[in-house]
Amino acid sequence: MPSEFEIIARYFTRDTSHTVLGVGDDGALISPGPGQELVVSTDMLVEGTHFLADTDPEALGWKTLAVNISDMAAMGARPRWATLAAVLPAPTPEWIEAFARGFFDCANSHGIDLIGGDTTRGPRAFCVTILGEVPAGQALRRNGAIAGDSIWVSGRPGCAALGLAHLQGRTTLAEPALTACLMALQRPQPRVMLGLALRGTASAAIDVSDGLLADLGHILERSKISARLRIPGLSAAGLERDCVLAGGDDYELLFTAPAKFDGKIAALATELKIPLTRIGEIVAGPPGELVLCDDSRTVITPATRGYDHFMSPAREAEVQACKAKAPGDGTVSQDK
Ligand code: ADP
Ligand code: MG
Repeated sequence: MPSEFEIIARYFTRDTSHTVLGVGDDGALISPGPGQELVVSTDMLVEGTHFLADTDPEALGWKTLAVNISDMAAMGARPRWATLAAVLPAPTPEWIEAFARGFFDCANSHGIDLIGGDTTRGPRAFCVTILGEVPAGQALRRNGAIAGDSIWVSGRPGCAALGLAHLQGRTTLAEPALTACLMALQRPQPRVMLGLALRGTASAAIDVSDGLLADLGHILERSKISARLRIPGLSAAGLERDCVLAGGDDYELLFTAPAKFDGKIAALATELKIPLTRIGEIVAGPPGELVLCDDSRTVITPATRGYDHFMSPAREAEVQACKAKAPGDGTVSQDK
């Protein structure tokens, strides 16, 4: 097993392209461009919670950074620097090498310098802090949605959760859906270009990590407003619908924009070759309330909006009971 300092030197020290001082000192030095604000965000991945013990290390390395880049995308920021805190049990050189390959593959494809971190022995977990740049005052936030705005989502929400369900034997996917869903789960592609393109157009944005309804709920709470959703092609009740509405881990962008930009956003989908779907609109109403209809305008009452690490077993039982009763008044209360 390599020592701590061998791990840092051999696997996590690389040349940087836009950093004053990188790995090797007590701190890193960076110099943001003129007129730029720094955007800072942290995300952890913990074995047993965010990934399975036998996850392919290269895919895990990619995903560890990709989920952080996704937060930059949601802010309309260009990701620039990252630090990596790694807790490792007793890693083999092959395991760390594969992890580092995936991590730097993702870093290189987004022009990110790894500038520091920490390496410790313990139950496997990774924590990345990422820094990005955005021209002062132009960051996308969660709090700007207003009545009349359209609600959009990129990609195919629910794909990652369906991929996980397949791996866990809860469903059997056939090609080409299988490859697409496993890619979404294991190698998410953060929507950086979309985030940059949405500056000045989107009124609010978030990346879908906890589930579509949960993350829309965050926009509604922060913007103190309600929403009406009609998701084109939403399937009948069942696993697929649950994955679309509440499956986490998609790292797609969910955003609102004034309806006058509907055409511009449709054109953006073609330009960036990313599916962008209009799934509803912001309406006046109590903060956080959302009404969901299916294609035939029947109101749907989902049992849960998404993932919450601290949902108690009692609250979970309550949610299941509510699901069984399905009162169908169309309103969904906050689960978090
Ligand atoms: P210190 O004792 O001052 O905290 P460390 O010995 O932990 O420093 O780390 C030495 C250098 O290696 C520092 O520059 C630190 O940022 C960097 N580093 C440690 N672990 C990692 C890692 N997993 N990835 C990248 N850089 C790391
Ligand atoms: Mg020190």
